[in-house]
Amino acid sequence: MKKRRICSYCGRRIEGMEPEYRGSRKDNQEELYCSPECRKRHEAALGNIRRNLKWFAAGITLSVLLILCSAFAGTSENGTGSLLGGSGILLLGFTLLLFPYCTPETYAMLGYVNTTRLGRGMGILIMLFGFWMFF
Ligand SMILES: [Zn+2]
Repeated sequence: MKKRRICSYCGRRIEGMEPEYRGSRKDNQEELYCSPECRKRHEAALGNIRRNLKWFAAGITLSVLLILCSAFAGTSENGTGSLLGGSGILLLGFTLLLFPYCTPETYAMLGYVNTTRLGRGMGILIMLFGFWMFF
């Protein structure tokens, strides 16, 4: 199967043109860019991701804990369970909205810009679901 060649940053197809390379990553995937500009922007974005990764991890961990707590609290009459679960899901969505990081596969398939949009969109959907849980 022929691998799709897209710009790692903007997701533009780079068939029939000479791409900018950034060498191979651990998973043997090459970073390809349609322009030196995309390459520079992606490197800056990757730096940001590395810096923010601990907040991303903290947000995900805390929201999962809240959701687990809500499962233990159950949906009793006083509504503690759904309140905890709603907060957990809200936090999960908020974390994704601030730090829309996805799997390397997604980045390889869509490019950085589109993956970020996808992550934000998912964050908003999850937050809406969290709000809905409060009612
Ligand atoms: Zn590009």
